[in-house]
Amino acid sequence: MGCTAEGLAAALRAAAEVIAEHRTELIELDRAIGDGDHGENLSRGFTAIVSALETQVPATPAAVAKLAATTLISKVGGAAGPLYGTAFLRASAKLGDAAEIDVPLLLDALRAALEGVQARGKAVGGDATMVDALIPALSAAESTGGSVADVLAAAADGADRGAESTVDLIPRKGRASYLGERAVGHMDPGARSTALLLRALAEAAR
Ligand code: ADP
Ligand code: MG
Repeated sequence: MGCTAEGLAAALRAAAEVIAEHRTELIELDRAIGDGDHGENLSRGFTAIVSALETQVPATPAAVAKLAATTLISKVGGAAGPLYGTAFLRASAKLGDAAEIDVPLLLDALRAALEGVQARGKAVGGDATMVDALIPALSAAESTGGSVADVLAAAADGADRGAESTVDLIPRKGRASYLGERAVGHMDPGARSTALLLRALAEAAR
């Protein structure tokens, strides 16, 4: 069974809760190698998405994803807002007018999200950014069969491993890159939030 507009809206509400629960953790990760605003930024953005969905849930999954994108772009400052906004916007474009997201469409949307983040931020794998969570998330998703929930769970597992891998990397993009080698030993906050978001979506799909 696929994920409807209502299903995606529910998943975004769940994601907002998870981000709120991990707000302090994300702030602390960003404080270690950045400016400490990542948890605040994301939590504000997802709260705004939940409010936007309260008035009315748009008719298609694509329209829900687009609402999330425009909210993140307008409400979240810093690097992550526009990057996550672009991810949702590119995913939305792939979803088209489908009434439900099935596995092939989910994979297309995940691919488009990663491409969008890379087009916007120019980071490649190994630069210690959210891209290091997204790349293994996508490969794990692509090599898993099963339901939308199974594929999202595999993506979340991949993202967890990817976020963990950023601990040993020298950041080459974003604020953390100013620290160079001094940032080694710290997990990238954006990679961690990507893993949290994918886990929340996976749990909601289940
Ligand atoms: P800022 O760095 O402007 O304070 P945030 O703290 O909200 O923004 O987000 C920081 C996160 O954004 C980083 O942990 C990293 O994952 C991600 N990021 C920053 N620059 C890039 C980039 N060029 N490409 C991909 N991700 C990036
Ligand atoms: Mg920051």
